[in-house]
Amino acid sequence: MRLLVIGNGMAGARLVGEVRARDKDIKITVFGAETWQPYNRVLLSNVLAGSSGPDQVRLLDPTWYGEHDVEAFLGTRAVQIDRETRTVISEDGRRTPYDVLVLATGSQAIVPPIPGVDRAVPFRTLDDCQAILAASRTSARAVVIGGGLLGIEAARGLAGRGLPVTLLHLADHLMERQLDAEAGLVLGETLAGLGVEIRTGVSAAEILPEGVRLADGTLAEGDLVVLACGVRPETELAEQAGLEVRRGVVVDDELRTDDPAVFAIGECAEHDGVVYGLVAPAWEQASVVADVITGAAKDARYRGSRLVTRLKAKSVELAAMGETHLTEEHAEVVRFSHRAKGTYRKLVIRDGRLVGAILLGESAAVGTLTQLFDRGGPLPGDRAGLLFPGLSGAPVADSPVRMPDSAKVCQCNNVTKGQIRACWESGARDVTAVAAATRATTGCGTCRDAVEGIVGWLCEQEGVSA
Ligand SMILES: Cc1cc2nc3c(=O)[nH]c(=O)nc-3n(C[C@H](O)[C@H](O)[C@H](O)COP(=O)(O)OP(=O)(O)OC[C@H]3O[C@@H](n4cnc5c(N)ncnc54)[C@H](O)[C@@H]3O)c2cc1C
Repeated sequence: MRLLVIGNGMAGARLVGEVRARDKDIKITVFGAETWQPYNRVLLSNVLAGSSGPDQVRLLDPTWYGEHDVEAFLGTRAVQIDRETRTVISEDGRRTPYDVLVLATGSQAIVPPIPGVDRAVPFRTLDDCQAILAASRTSARAVVIGGGLLGIEAARGLAGRGLPVTLLHLADHLMERQLDAEAGLVLGETLAGLGVEIRTGVSAAEILPEGVRLADGTLAEGDLVVLACGVRPETELAEQAGLEVRRGVVVDDELRTDDPAVFAIGECAEHDGVVYGLVAPAWEQASVVADVITGAAKDARYRGSRLVTRLKAKSVELAAMGETHLTEEHAEVVRFSHRAKGTYRKLVIRDGRLVGAILLGESAAVGTLTQLFDRGGPLPGDRAGLLFPGLSGAPVADSPVRMPDSAKVCQCNNVTKGQIRACWESGARDVTAVAAATRATTGCGTCRDAVEGIVGWLCEQEGVSA
């Protein structure tokens, strides 16, 4: 069988590895438009902030393709799919035949059609990240357009490097898709305390050498302008090939498009009406497709993902999950706000189950609430105890001791406490060894402390029983 993968980002690279791990014989070819070896895009925010180096985000070793008999064309864009002859044509004129084709083309950064926009740098790729870093060395002030997750991470990263930053956002509060108005306000105040000037409810009209002119005529000064205005699924090839495309390339539970020989995964795919913008679904989809096409688990199916968003910005703790916008009319809402401390916590409960949560500011409750949200099981009656673990003197529920083996610890790679324990039982004694065996911590990295806690606790137990 000949497998051809278009796109060598987080979904495509994972798929190639998963297929090869299951089947040594399938002929695999991958086209990647970027010249880089596959890298962890999620960690670009850390590169911008200086907490990871560009060489620490690599997903595969340069020698991996040769060692695993995978033909990789990096820096080569696929430009046409001929479904009649089952051939893909790449920009170098090569025609590559396939039996199974997987589209993993991701998304494109949205570039607003305003005058002077080519003076700004989008924030999507490692090249973009390096361009922003290079410009930041000679800039006096930065403006970031877009107050979603990415824009906030970019703004915080640049401010952490000592550059004064203004963050512009069209909506009335930051991260309006994940946060309610009060959480957005508290987040804005926290960021302001860290050197990011926030301007919400504003629209960029033009990018000038001295800054961004807003629709109200005022100027947000800055000689470096970063765009974080959202993304659009990269579906052009699929559209040209006549595949069904709505927002993304439409796929079923096997991740198959309306052509049975063509699959789509990651941010270019639309499953059950949803286009996901996080890595966990992309990696889960890659695993399902690998099972299906190699026959390793023919009945593997993707049923959708429950999303937990965590901000990766130094000194700003934020996790948001599920339906955070439901009001008292439709759900039970438990809320605590202490603006002066940058704290906001909200639980949204329906039929006794957690359907949404916002946790802003340091909180020991994140792990427990993420598990409760993930499992969708009934909640304990003590709501205050959920928001303030340890309040009633009870042990913190997400301590390694109390956490059930089924609790998901690494959201990106879907790794449970039970898997970490099994890995420990087979000899792993530190996070690096657990990461090598389970991949826990290798996505966004925010579960590192939790994994460390579990490994430390298991080692302590060993000491106690020895
Ligand atoms: C700065 C930043 C921070 C993020 N933080 C988080 C986070 O904390 N948590 C989280 O879950 N997610 C985060 N994300 C989102 C996450 O990175 C994406 O969800 C993930 O990368 C999607 O994987 P993908 O393979 O679908 O797309 P991509 O990783 O974008 O890969 C698609 C690849 O396909 C290539 N391609 C496109 N068209 C063609 C073609 N015609 N021929 C050949 N190659 C082609 C592209 O060049 C690209 O390399 C972040 C994203 C960014 C940019």
